[in-house]
Amino acid sequence: MSDYDNAVFRLATAQEAEPEDYTGEDGLLYCGSCRQPKEAYFAEGKTLFGRDRHPKECDCQRKRREMLETADREHKHREEVERLKRIGFTDPAMREWTFGNDNGKCPQMAKARAYVEQWEQIKDGNHGMILWGEVGTGKSYFAGCIANALMEKEVSVSMTNFALILNDLAASYKDRNEYIARLCSFPLLILDDFGMERGTEYGLEQVYNVIDSRYRSRKPLIVTTNLTLEELQNPEDTPHARIYDRLIEMCSPVCITGENFRKAKAREKMEQLKMLLNRKESL
Ligand SMILES: [Zn+2]
Repeated sequence: MSDYDNAVFRLATAQEAEPEDYTGEDGLLYCGSCRQPKEAYFAEGKTLFGRDRHPKECDCQRKRREMLETADREHKHREEVERLKRIGFTDPAMREWTFGNDNGKCPQMAKARAYVEQWEQIKDGNHGMILWGEVGTGKSYFAGCIANALMEKEVSVSMTNFALILNDLAASYKDRNEYIARLCSFPLLILDDFGMERGTEYGLEQVYNVIDSRYRSRKPLIVTTNLTLEELQNPEDTPHARIYDRLIEMCSPVCITGENFRKAKAREKMEQLKMLLNRKESL
C-alpha cells in the first residue's frame, strides 16, 4: 500500500477501544486514562466509507509513539556511530581515547574539546593542527578524543598513519588514486605518528602525494608528530621541505606537554610489582 492508501486506511478504521475507554457527551470515544478524545469528526458532516469520524491520538498514544520514535532514532544513531568507528579507526584501541577516559594530565585538552565544539567553523575555515611535543605526552590520545567525539556527532573521521598508508599503497598498485581519493573524502583526516617513516625517495613521494591531495581537497588535517617544530621548519632536504611546507601551510602547530604517559605507566607498574613482591615476603 502507498503512503496515501495507508493514510486513508487509518482514517477509515475504527478506533479500537480499551476496556477503560468511554463515550463522551459529543459521542466520541475518550481515553480512560488521559481523558482525551481518541476520535474526531470529519469536517462539516463529511464521511469516509460511511464513517463520520476518524481515529485521533490521545495523549498516552502520542507519548508512546514519541517514545518509540526516540528509541528508534537513538538505535539508528548508535549504529551510525559504530559504523564510523569501524571504518575510521585503524586500531580498536583508539576507541578508548575519549574525553570520558581522559586522566586530566594533558593541559591542552581544552583545545581538543573546543576543536570539536567549533567543528562547523573549523571545517568551513579548513583549520588543521600539527600536534607536536615530546614522546608519550598524549598527542595521539588528544587526536583520538577529537575523532571519537566527532564520530559521536556522526562526522566521518579517518585516523591512520603513514606506515599503514604506504603499505596499502604498495599493495594496491592499480587503485592508488582511488585510495587517496577515499582518504581525502573524510571531513577530517588524522595522520598519527608522522615523521617515523624516514625514507626512500619513493616513500617521500607518496607522503607528499597524500598530503598534497588532502591540501587540494580543502578539508582539515590533523597530524601528530615527534618531530620538533624546529625540525619541521628546517627540513634536511628538498623532498622533506616540500612536505613540511605544505603541512605548515595547512596545520597550525599546537605543542602538547602532557605528563609522559608511558613513563607514568611504567612507574605505576613498578609500584604494583613492588607491592606484590613485598606481600609475598610478609607471608
Ligand atoms: Zn490516553
